[in-house]
Amino acid sequence: MNLTDVYFKDLFENTSDLIQYVSLEGEIEMVNPAWLLNLGYALEEVKGKSIYEFIDPAEADTYKTYRDACINHQNRDDLEITFIAKGMIPVILEGHLRPFFHENKFLHTRGVFRNITVKKEKEKLQQEHLLKFSQFLENAPDAVVIIDEQQIIVEWNLKASEIFGYSRKEVINQQLAAFIIPIEYREAHHRGLRHFLATGEGPVLNKTIEVPAIDKSNREFPINLNISSVKLQDQWFFIAFMNDISEKKKNEQILRQKDLELEKTKLEDAQKMDFLTIASHELKTPLTSMKAYVQLALREIETRPTEQVINLLRKADSFSDKLNKLILNLLDISKIQSGKLRVEKQPTDITSLVRDVVNSSQLLYTSHIISFRSDKDYIINIDRSRIEQVFVNLINNAVKYSPKADKVEIEIKQKQDFIYISVKDYGTGIESINQTKVFEKFYRVDELSKNDTQSLGIGLYISSEIVKQHGGKIWVENNNSGGATFFVVLPVNV
Ligand code: ADP
Repeated sequence: MNLTDVYFKDLFENTSDLIQYVSLEGEIEMVNPAWLLNLGYALEEVKGKSIYEFIDPAEADTYKTYRDACINHQNRDDLEITFIAKGMIPVILEGHLRPFFHENKFLHTRGVFRNITVKKEKEKLQQEHLLKFSQFLENAPDAVVIIDEQQIIVEWNLKASEIFGYSRKEVINQQLAAFIIPIEYREAHHRGLRHFLATGEGPVLNKTIEVPAIDKSNREFPINLNISSVKLQDQWFFIAFMNDISEKKKNEQILRQKDLELEKTKLEDAQKMDFLTIASHELKTPLTSMKAYVQLALREIETRPTEQVINLLRKADSFSDKLNKLILNLLDISKIQSGKLRVEKQPTDITSLVRDVVNSSQLLYTSHIISFRSDKDYIINIDRSRIEQVFVNLINNAVKYSPKADKVEIEIKQKQDFIYISVKDYGTGIESINQTKVFEKFYRVDELSKNDTQSLGIGLYISSEIVKQHGGKIWVENNNSGGATFFVVLPVNV
């Protein structure tokens, strides 16, 4: 044997490829040790036998067609064919057949194959996994979107289409950001991803966060987002699980609103109870005093001079006035409540009306100088007694809530089509959070008013209703120098 023969023999015997020589009739003439090893036979068991005994019958035709083509010099791509190994075990081979001619005479086909059974099994398993995974993806209750390092969408399941309105076809292989991230968050998203790729740090990874998203119609809505990262063949992929939580948020909002309303009702109930206690006390006190004075007057009428009896009756009378005022206020509340507080407007000189209230208040309160300023007499359409009630209340409060001060200032002005009347005091003032609340029913700001049994928290409520009925406005501001100024603004032409 020369050296070349030695090489060829070595190759034939030691290659891991399966080599076979088969005659025109299909008889096996020679196979190499790798062929025998892979299919589990001894040479005597195969030599002279038909090759078809070792081929899966279902694929015999495929083998034959390939072989015929090969004999006719039509070289084809590799053939994949299932052989039957000893013990009826299928073994998948991949390779080719070539004809072997000698002096123009066909001698046999030479087959060279690789055993790809293990590779095929792996592929099958992978495919099964992939199938399971894509089934899982497709039916997942969350929207699942997978992107690669370039933020290209590589997976997009059914739920994602449902939530975001884009079909899989529309988004696959496209950049993610433009589809579902609101424009103002895109830069932060790109930055976060770049940072992760550079440093491996991803503070939002593997936790559920709430973020805004947009859908095909550009509607912005909140979603729960959970991103995890996986590295496959040196490439990072990001799997995002998402669900639309706008409904949930809406319900939470409704619940919160309900809680707030409940709180409000509770507060109102407590205020009503307070009010009832104070109101009954307020009704009882003047009534008791009135009765005492009348009884005293009756007893004394025989013996005392008329002057003293008249004094007693005057006191009784003033208590009956207080009682009357209180009852009228209570009646006003029920009128407001049932929408029956009506005002009957007629042209009235508001300047002299307010001046009269100031004068009579001054007689009543000697602790304060109540000043009045107006550059003109203004005649406007108002309900005289109702507007009088407003200013009696405002001046009364101004005095009552400035016990340490000694003046109250009232001013009337016209600005454009409105008459502005201000009542300014130098008392405690009202914290800004309470400045609208004081106009609510039964609302009393602080201990000063709460300790005062005269204070019912209804005067400003009634006043604001009266002003509203006139198409006007009432509000309060704190003065820079301390104390509060109440403003009443009434339209000139109503
Ligand atoms: P009342 O004075 O009978 O309590 P009001 O409705 O007139 O009822 O006033 C509501 C609350 O507003 C008062 O209890 C008091 O706490 C506050 N308030 C009213 N006027 C003034 C004022 N001029 N300065 C400070 N607080 C005031």
